[in-house]
Amino acid sequence: MYNHKMKKCDIIIIGGGAAGMMAGISASRKEGAVLIVEKNLKLGRKVLATGNGRCNVTNRYVDKSHYCDASPDFVEKVLSHFDQHKVMKFFENLGVLLKEEDNGRIFPRTNQAETIVNALTEELAAKKVQIILSNPVRHLIKEKNLFQVKLQNSEEFLADKIILTTGGKASEQYGATGDGYAWAENFGHHITTLYPALVPLETNDRWPKAIQGLKIEARVSVTISERVLAEKSGDVLFTHYGLSGLAVLALAGKAAPFLTKHKVNVHLDLFPEETYENLDRKIAKIFDLKGKKSVKNSLAGMTPSNFIPIFLNNLLINPDKKAAEISKKERLKIADGFKNIVLSVSRVRPFKEAQVTAGGVDTKEVNPETMESKIVPGLYLAGEILDVNADSGGYNLQWAWSSGHLAGVSALK
Ligand SMILES: Cc1cc2nc3c(=O)[nH]c(=O)nc-3n(C[C@H](O)[C@H](O)[C@H](O)COP(=O)(O)OP(=O)(O)OC[C@H]3O[C@@H](n4cnc5c(N)ncnc54)[C@H](O)[C@@H]3O)c2cc1C
Repeated sequence: MYNHKMKKCDIIIIGGGAAGMMAGISASRKEGAVLIVEKNLKLGRKVLATGNGRCNVTNRYVDKSHYCDASPDFVEKVLSHFDQHKVMKFFENLGVLLKEEDNGRIFPRTNQAETIVNALTEELAAKKVQIILSNPVRHLIKEKNLFQVKLQNSEEFLADKIILTTGGKASEQYGATGDGYAWAENFGHHITTLYPALVPLETNDRWPKAIQGLKIEARVSVTISERVLAEKSGDVLFTHYGLSGLAVLALAGKAAPFLTKHKVNVHLDLFPEETYENLDRKIAKIFDLKGKKSVKNSLAGMTPSNFIPIFLNNLLINPDKKAAEISKKERLKIADGFKNIVLSVSRVRPFKEAQVTAGGVDTKEVNPETMESKIVPGLYLAGEILDVNADSGGYNLQWAWSSGHLAGVSALK
C-alpha cells in the first residue's frame, strides 16, 4: 500500500559502490531526481581498498576474453557502451591523472584510491544526486508501476525505476553482503551458484605453514583427475593455510565449483622455462661443482634457500646429505619435484577473503543494450551482482563502470 508520506524519486540506486556511483552520475539530469542509498558511512568503501589502496581502475587491454561466467557476447555488448578508453577519458575530464603500469594496468597517478572515490563523489554532488548514507535498504518491492524502498530507519521512498548495484558477497567488511540477490530472486530472477573468486586456496598439505610468507615465481596449474582446468604464471605465496599470491588467486575461481565432488590438485612448476632433461643437467652440474656441500646448500642458488629443506624433506631426501652422495634416482626426483610440486586443495578461503564473487544474477535475464531486467520493467542491474567476474588487473572495476554507466543512461530515458 502506498503511503502519502512516502517521498518520490525518478530513480533510486541501491548501493553506492563503483557501479552505483557511476550509474548515479550517468542518470542524473535534474536536481533530486536520482537518489543513491548506501549502507556504509561513505560511498565507494570497497573501491578505496582496491589495488592495495591504489585502485587499479581499468586496463588498457580490456576485452571479453578476460571475463567469465556470462556469455562473451553479453559482456562485449555491455563493455562497448563505455569501454576502457571512455573510462580513462571520463576520469581525466574529472581532473584525475592516470598512469599505466605493467600488463596495461591503469592507476590514478596519485597512487591513491581516494582520488577516484573523491572525484566520483564530487561529480555526484555537481550533478545534484541525493545521497543517503549509513542506512541500508531493508525492503524492495514493486506494486503496480512503482517500486517501494524501505530503509533501516523506516523511511520509505517510491521510485519509477531502480538500479540495483549492491555488489556481490566478497569482502563483506567493505559493505557488500549479497542483499541484492534476495530481492532479485523475489522478482523472479535466477541466481547462479555463488563462489568466492580471486581468493586463496587451503591445502590438505600442511608444509606451506613452515615457510609461510615466502613468495616464489611458478607456473601454476589446477587439475581434477589429471585434467588441467586452468594454468597461470606468476607469484605464489605460501601461507599458514596453504597458497595465495596472484597466480593462485587467479585460478581459485576455476577450482571452486569442483571442490565438493572432485579431488582438486594444484601443481607448481618452478622452472617452466626449462625442460625436465635440461633442468636435470643443470642440477647434475651443480652437484659436480658442489659435491662436498650438503644437498640443501648446493641447491640454494636455484630457489629461495629456506624453501629447499622443506622441498627435500617432502621428497624423502635428507637435506644434510652430501651432494656427491645423491643417487641418480634421487637427482631425477629433485628435477621432477621442481617441475611438479603437487598440493591437494581442501577448499577455497571464505568470501571474506575474496576479491570478487563468481556467480550472480543470470545475465540471460538482463538486456545487454540497457541493463534492464527482462523480467521486471524498470529494474536495472549493474556491477558484481551480475553473474560476471573477471581476471585481476582492473577488469572487475571496468565491468562496474561499464555496466553502471549503461544502467544509468538507460534508466534516464
Ligand atoms: C581487496 C579488494 C581489492 C580489489 N582490487 C581491485 C582492483 O584493483 N581492480 C579491480 O578492477 N577490481 C578490484 N576489486 C574488485 C572490485 O572492487 C569490485 O569488482 C567492484 O567494487 C564491484 O563494484 P560494485 O559496485 O558492483 O560493488 P561494490 O563496489 O561492492 O558496491 C556495492 C555497494 O552496495 C552497498 N550495499 C550493499 N547492500 C546494501 C543495502 N542493503 N543497502 C544499501 N547499500 C548496500 C555496499 O555497502 C557497497 O558500497 C577488488 C576487490 C577487493 C575486495
